[in-house]
Amino acid sequence: MTAHEINCEEVIRLLFEYLDRELDPARSSDIDRHLERCRECFSRAEFEKKLRARVHAAAEDEAPPRLRRRVRRLIERF
Ligand SMILES: [Zn+2]
Repeated sequence: MTAHEINCEEVIRLLFEYLDRELDPARSSDIDRHLERCRECFSRAEFEKKLRARVHAAAEDEAPPRLRRRVRRLIERF
């Protein structure tokens, strides 16, 4: 089986599942490989990771509802 060349659109479509580790390992490593080569997707993935970490931290800190709503809106935009 040859490695599937995944494109930017697919990466973006699968990004959430990728970050949640819900993809099968083959798919996930397709994305790993793409992120190594594609700066655009890499920074998108990094941004998403940081955002998630922040949401997580905010949730633990009992962030004010207004901030939480703002963060949620940010996420939904992608
Ligand atoms: Zn890309």
